[in-house]
Amino acid sequence: MPQPLVGMELSDLREALGPERPGYRAKQIYEALYRGQASDFVQISTLPAAMRADLAAHHSVGLPEIARVYQSTDGTRRYLLQLDDGKTVETVLMPESERDTICISSQVGCPVDCKFCMTALLGLERSLTAGEIVGQVLLVARENQLRQDGGRLNVVMMGQGEPLLNLENVTKAARILLDPEGFGLSPRRLTVSTAGIVPKIDELGREPVRPKLAISLNASTEESRQELMPITRKYHLKDLMEVCRRYPLRPWEKLTFEYVLLKGVNDSDADARRVVRLLAHLNCNVNLIALNPGPEIPYETPAAERVASFQQIVRRAVPCFVRKPRGLDIYAACGQLKRASGN
Ligand code: SAH
Repeated sequence: MPQPLVGMELSDLREALGPERPGYRAKQIYEALYRGQASDFVQISTLPAAMRADLAAHHSVGLPEIARVYQSTDGTRRYLLQLDDGKTVETVLMPESERDTICISSQVGCPVDCKFCMTALLGLERSLTAGEIVGQVLLVARENQLRQDGGRLNVVMMGQGEPLLNLENVTKAARILLDPEGFGLSPRRLTVSTAGIVPKIDELGREPVRPKLAISLNASTEESRQELMPITRKYHLKDLMEVCRRYPLRPWEKLTFEYVLLKGVNDSDADARRVVRLLAHLNCNVNLIALNPGPEIPYETPAAERVASFQQIVRRAVPCFVRKPRGLDIYAACGQLKRASGN
């Protein structure tokens, strides 16, 4: 099988091309693949024709295939992408007036088992490679003519999977996406979201090049968090708060906490006050997400007034926003990625 090049950093590319090729060739290919979003070696016009043919004989660019595209009435697009081994994964594009956000997956399925999330029902099939993570961004950017340098494009690792349980590939993908000579995304425009894998948060903090960090809090007490997110039986709320306190934020950076509101479960004013107590001393924002319902999900969406009341309370302590659901009609919204057909 030809060796895929997307997912390689410059040093990997030099090695793959072999010592007989001058180093600047690797650089040209690196720039063409990431900054240039090339999908075919033929398009790399800085290379001599013979080299393009030779590359094509031994390597592939390595982008995923589009298996299907689902178009929402609100402009959101959900891509079902097929990987080399035939497995499929989802990527979502959310265009807005001021910005475009690509939501990418880090694993096929997810091992975390949150009780309100449809991806949990898949279980974990496997982790994605760095190339498969970067490939989702390259493909969707190219399909929609999105430029990384226009200040509009944001990428969030909030699709299928728990990124911090695939940290090595996620950080490698981040280095490629954030390298000014690579894809060239600003570090303010790349966010990774975790269910709260405490030791991996410390590890991420030690990476010199890394995305911004979002943490799925989703409950205001240890007991309710353990019930909703069984993985947190291992990673306690108290330890999560401690790792957040010592997390080395960059001068421009804040933590983001996500909180899924489930009717009658974690959406009371008392919950909101406990969230305030947990977060008041952190440099952070809160994003509230009213549950996106799904078949097999045993929870309901709270009424808009409940959401507003929760927000009012949290907002007294930290900036708090309500995230608008996107692509609900095509199963593209938070917690709905399950390769479901529909529309
Ligand atoms: N595993 C990571 C990455 C997934 S991000 C994490 O847990 O952060 C997905 C976000 O959607 C999480 O904040 C999660 O809490 C939220 N979510 C999951 N299911 C949802 C649902 N049914 N409705 C609304 N939000 C949901």
